[in-house]
Amino acid sequence: MSLPWLEEHMNALHERLQAGRLGHAPLIQGPEGVGKRELARWLAERILCLQPSGREPCGQCRSCELMASGTHPDFFAVDIPEDRQSIPVDAIRGLIEKMQLTPSVGAARVGMFVDADAMNRNAANALLKTLEEPAPGAWLVLCSDQPANLPATIRSRCQKVALRPPPFESAGQWLAGECGDVGEHNRRAALVLAGGAPLAARWMLKHGEFERGLAILETLVEPAADRRSGKLLDEWQQDAAGTWQWLARWLVLMMNRVRGVGSADLPMAARLPTDLPPGHVARLWEQALEGRRAAGSGSVRQDLSLGKWLLEWETLMESRSRR
Ligand SMILES: [Zn+2]
Repeated sequence: MSLPWLEEHMNALHERLQAGRLGHAPLIQGPEGVGKRELARWLAERILCLQPSGREPCGQCRSCELMASGTHPDFFAVDIPEDRQSIPVDAIRGLIEKMQLTPSVGAARVGMFVDADAMNRNAANALLKTLEEPAPGAWLVLCSDQPANLPATIRSRCQKVALRPPPFESAGQWLAGECGDVGEHNRRAALVLAGGAPLAARWMLKHGEFERGLAILETLVEPAADRRSGKLLDEWQQDAAGTWQWLARWLVLMMNRVRGVGSADLPMAARLPTDLPPGHVARLWEQALEGRRAAGSGSVRQDLSLGKWLLEWETLMESRSRR
């Protein structure tokens, strides 16, 4: 997969690696969908490759073959276990143990964190020691879209690599190549909704998320008797975190529209109400963000909190039609 906006980062990382100036724990940060994971994976392959050809891993050595088949004995990916909400301390202890072994293939071992900020406090403390006293040839590649949630002690021991969405027009060109079957209008809309992050926009368009978002907007703006019906809430809570995110996204666009920000590219601009009290919309937006966090932690019944949110939204919409 070619991600042109990562080129400059790949060049810089390659140069630092060649000069022996790349710290043993790069922290790749940036919003969702800008390619953190892809860059981290490339870096891991490049570090482990036995005969890199210039900037790129060779793709042919034993190490590259093992990476391609997903069986490299010196590469360890750390992610949130399926039955958990965060990365537990045992996962870090396991990683540290493995990172201390002698590499089986080349001279390096790489541990990669897909979501470093998902470490719980104990896990982060356990990792800190390894960051302070790295074993020779041991690399940790961390990714995070919420680096502020990482302890400062961890952040200060990592080398920051900050990714940003590419300029809107070049992101649009890339997206056109990836989703040529989608009309330009919808591609631009998805890109705005994804905050300019190309991979997030592509995911939206390819996985029916864009349509889902439109349906959620429809529910918000069209008065419908069954708005708070059990069926709707049932549907919404199947992916509660995703629903909350859509609610937050639409509310941001409504606030932007009222303020006249970026109106040229606002998707569904004509459908967004402009006469809602901004303070109230902002409060509902904060509740949606809070809902998303709570959905991630699995602590609250989502149908109840979504229903409560929707009731408040409805009251707001009704007060407007009465004015
Ligand atoms: Zn190779």
